[in-house]
Amino acid sequence: MKTKTIRILIPLAVLLAAGVGFVLHTGLGNLSAIGWGDIALLCPLGALGTMLATKTLVPKALISLAIAAIAIVVLGRAFCAWVCPVPVVSKLRGIFSKRPADGAEALEPGNECSPAVLTDDERAALKRAAGSCGSAQDACAKKGCASCADVRAKLDSRHLILGGSLLSAAVFGFPVFCLICPIGLSFATVFLIILLFSGGDVTWSLVAVPALLVVEVVLLRKWCAKICPLSALMSLVAKANRTFKPAIDDAACLETGHGAACGRCALACEQAINPRHPELGARWSECTKCRACVDACPTSAISLPFLPAKGATAPQGARVQEAADRADDEAAAQG
Ligand code: SF4
Ligand code: SF4
Repeated sequence: MKTKTIRILIPLAVLLAAGVGFVLHTGLGNLSAIGWGDIALLCPLGALGTMLATKTLVPKALISLAIAAIAIVVLGRAFCAWVCPVPVVSKLRGIFSKRPADGAEALEPGNECSPAVLTDDERAALKRAAGSCGSAQDACAKKGCASCADVRAKLDSRHLILGGSLLSAAVFGFPVFCLICPIGLSFATVFLIILLFSGGDVTWSLVAVPALLVVEVVLLRKWCAKICPLSALMSLVAKANRTFKPAIDDAACLETGHGAACGRCALACEQAINPRHPELGARWSECTKCRACVDACPTSAISLPFLPAKGATAPQGARVQEAADRADDEAAAQG
């Protein structure tokens, strides 16, 4: 079974399990607060918001935060790719738009970002191999080419929204963001549909909740990359994560092993990471361990080992890129 399919089936199974728990009145809850009887875990953002709102240290929230922190250190942001229902819901976008999935357009024949054999112009070729399209960069960025898109900064709009959601919880005495969180809205939609068919409950929520979810995730398009404060919180903790980091076999890679431009791994990454040239993309702490780069690599050069190999150094491509930049600087200095 394809990785992409598994990444859809797992969140759907979680939604289904929550729906079954809801029908049977067992204590599963949802991803915002999941548990059985007295044993329950809160979403880390909800836990922080609750404590700020109540201005007290809530034991259940503290335990939830500690467990979430350990899980993120061990698995990074894997929750985003493998469990969160939001990327699955966002696939509804395909119904409203004929635009190809992110990265797909850039791989079309004739596109400036398509793989190309290195030319005699070593400098330009090295830049292209590093995922930058040189003079075609603006055109590529307009087309949504992942390699040419703005690299995510250390702190971005998600972190601002994270700060705003925590501040609003403290000011209003309630974790306000939880009301509009698309994860909670996804589960609420399932529960409302169950209530409709089981008890004939027709309320405004039946329209308002899914409508808000569609606006946030389907119409706004960039929820995960630009807005989600939970992903921002996880990326901060994931700086301590060292596991399942993409590793490249330089001999098998088209760029370092065969002298050809490629960059498909960068184009496949929805988190704007450039596995071949990490210094050009978003930070590793954004990695969701989704394996899209592994699947995109035409030579199977990428793997996701549990821990980095001993003595592993910076990717060869990164060193080549640095050398090219140094050569450019020296040439400029010499006039
Ligand atoms: S680097 Fe690879 S595994 Fe990590 S988010 Fe990007 S595509 Fe997924
Ligand atoms: S690791 Fe694979 S996808 Fe990435 S540049 Fe090398 S050959 Fe291309």
